[in-house]
Amino acid sequence: MKERLRPLVDLLLSRDPQIRSRLVFSWIAIYGYSAGSIVLLLAAHMGLVHARSIFWLLGFIWTGVLTFYLLVRTGWSSRLGYPGMDFPQCIFALIAMMAGYVVAGPIREGVMPLVTLLLIFGVFTLEPRQVLLIGALTVICLGAVVGGMVLFMPGEYDGRAALLKFTLCALILPAISAVAYYVARIRLRVKQQKIELRQALSMLQEVAIRDDMTGLVNRRHMLQLLDQQRERQARTGEGFCVALIDLDHFKQINDQHGHHVGDEVLKDFSLAAVSVLRQTDVLARWGGEEFLLMMPTPGETGFEQVLQALDRVRQMLMAMPTLPDRPVSFSAGVTCHPPGESLRETLERADRALYQAKAAGRARSVVLTIEDNLTQASPDSHSA
Ligand code: GH3
Ligand code: MG
Ligand code: MG
Repeated sequence: MKERLRPLVDLLLSRDPQIRSRLVFSWIAIYGYSAGSIVLLLAAHMGLVHARSIFWLLGFIWTGVLTFYLLVRTGWSSRLGYPGMDFPQCIFALIAMMAGYVVAGPIREGVMPLVTLLLIFGVFTLEPRQVLLIGALTVICLGAVVGGMVLFMPGEYDGRAALLKFTLCALILPAISAVAYYVARIRLRVKQQKIELRQALSMLQEVAIRDDMTGLVNRRHMLQLLDQQRERQARTGEGFCVALIDLDHFKQINDQHGHHVGDEVLKDFSLAAVSVLRQTDVLARWGGEEFLLMMPTPGETGFEQVLQALDRVRQMLMAMPTLPDRPVSFSAGVTCHPPGESLRETLERADRALYQAKAAGRARSVVLTIEDNLTQASPDSHSA
């Protein structure tokens, strides 16, 4: 049943959650207008009010209601700068109520609860100062309407009673507006705090996954990404390779030039690497002067791609002027992750490959495959 009604609900309320929440208020307003319309039609039927005036009034009200509904439902209201059409709808409701007050004859006092409903609406949809404005406009419009009726419809309207009723409204409405204003302010503050909390949360999330100095993802987050990539591999068959990268003789750089220059070299390396990698590749600061590169590859093997990328990083690093007197080089251990293998095994193999690259003279990449076939990349093509 629920499933069968879904297309109708989607049509009336839209699937867009923002438009949907705006339209919920429109539907509550439509309920209020319907109740008022039924009472006015019954009053016309009973001969209590002038039927023609009522038809004109209902024509005006429902044309407006439908127009606002369509503007919000189609999203046009956002283009006009009032996404929920809240303030224009409140002004429209005020005009409709005042017109109702004029034509509703002996049942005109029934408009008063609707005015209160209007202010309650304001609490949930308007800005605090708009709520105050609507309250003030209500008193002014009511005063003008009552005054006009005393002047132009003296037979139908008892001036003294009207003055007393208006005085009561004029005294009570500001109190209702004041309460509405404070609630609207609380609502606004809660909304702002929610935005600030969301911003703080996303900042904390960002801090939690990144390395401060280089801006690369940190080891903890990289392990999560590797796990996700592993699961994707099981689902889609898309493989991935990793390269464990370690800067060569980094201790000497620190000793000769100072720790701060060492920090700059780490940042330069990160910049150089990120600038030549693809968006789908991920580089993490694995710890100290070690980095881990993860590259998604179409099949189970793809280390050629990794070797090419590492060559590009080497060239880029050479062009960086942090240490003009001595080029910074790095060694890398490259391996691919076959389906079914644990991450630990893959990373251990990459570590072994890195060890071999260091032992073979540094400034090079060494590939180790699952079969443990050592395929040492030629020092010519893969050394700095
Ligand atoms: P190898 O070629 O064998 O890798 O030699 P290495 O000197 O790079 O290796 P080792 O592990 O002996 O030295 C790594 C140095 O990196 C030691 C440590 O002080 C330094 N280091 C680790 N983290 C940072 C950092 O954040 N900033 C700086 N400036 N140095 C760091
Ligand atoms: Mg190291
Ligand atoms: Mg090192």
